[in-house]
Amino acid sequence: MITAKARAVDGPDKSFRAAEIKRRELDVHDVLIEIKYSGICHSDIHTAQGEWGPVQYPLVPGHEIAGIVTAVGAGVTKHKVGDRVGVGCMVDSCGECENCRKGEEQYCLKGNIPTYAGVDKYGEYTQGGYSTHIVVTEDFVVSIPDNIELDAAAPLLCAGITTYSPLNHWGAGPGKKVAVVGMGGLGHMAVKIAHAMGAEVTVLSQTLKKKEDGLQFGAVDYFATSEPETFEKLAGTFDLIINTVSAKIDISAYLSLLTLDGTLVNVGAPAEPLEVNAFSLIGHRRSFAGSMIGGIRETQEMLDFCGKHQIVPQIEVISADQIDEAYKRVLASDVKYRFVIDISTM
Ligand SMILES: [Zn+2]
Ligand SMILES: [Zn+2]
Repeated sequence: MITAKARAVDGPDKSFRAAEIKRRELDVHDVLIEIKYSGICHSDIHTAQGEWGPVQYPLVPGHEIAGIVTAVGAGVTKHKVGDRVGVGCMVDSCGECENCRKGEEQYCLKGNIPTYAGVDKYGEYTQGGYSTHIVVTEDFVVSIPDNIELDAAAPLLCAGITTYSPLNHWGAGPGKKVAVVGMGGLGHMAVKIAHAMGAEVTVLSQTLKKKEDGLQFGAVDYFATSEPETFEKLAGTFDLIINTVSAKIDISAYLSLLTLDGTLVNVGAPAEPLEVNAFSLIGHRRSFAGSMIGGIRETQEMLDFCGKHQIVPQIEVISADQIDEAYKRVLASDVKYRFVIDISTM
């Protein structure tokens, strides 16, 4: 067993505390990673607070992991000691079902094994990246391009792939008008990636507070959704809308902004159901869709794309003692645009 230092939470509304967790001895295909940085995702907060169902505490969240390989199992061929690597939202899947064979492990028919708050094939409860070390099977470890710093790489492992995958799947590119709803951790990545893919990007945010940032990230337009004229002005405009908001919004109003055959993709996961007026769909053969992270092959493709186009998230690096404060600020939308924990402060 390997002992790792970590930050754990013991229940909803509890503060994070220093903890020690065990990582398994390396199996033949396992990689031991010394974690350098771990991003803070909104999912960490939902899970830590038990909002997405019962959780076993103590819980160590974190699924935006960047670090260095420090040991490998005897059968490992994909990574070697010293490699700069990342781990995202899942650490394993069945590997045999139709979806896994297609490289869509996130949609594994037996359920993927999440990086934290899941149970792995050894029967162990998984614990995430707010820790000094993690052991992961080599197929679920991706390589970080040399020109991306490890702190900036961390949020790509969830926020990056969560936005890249639908943009890629629904063909964002030259000649396509893409709208991004929400300008948080996910939204700002969606703007940068869609712009780099060659699409014409518009941000739809509650207010114009982050307009300058949005334009700097590559958007050509930026509208406040709190102003009703916005919906009249933009009716029938977009080929693709990526909704990153994790709260209940008026989906039908956003669907009306789509052109013929346009698609609105939800990547946010509000706890409440979303209502859709059928007329907003049938009028222009529109689609309302969802997307969850991306497969391992696509995650590597996203990292290589970000390396090639010099795309990195805008981050605030914090120490391990600041996690509680960071959670409060994420909930208040007071972060530009992702918190990343410096694991050396653990
Ligand atoms: Zn996440
Ligand atoms: Zn599977």
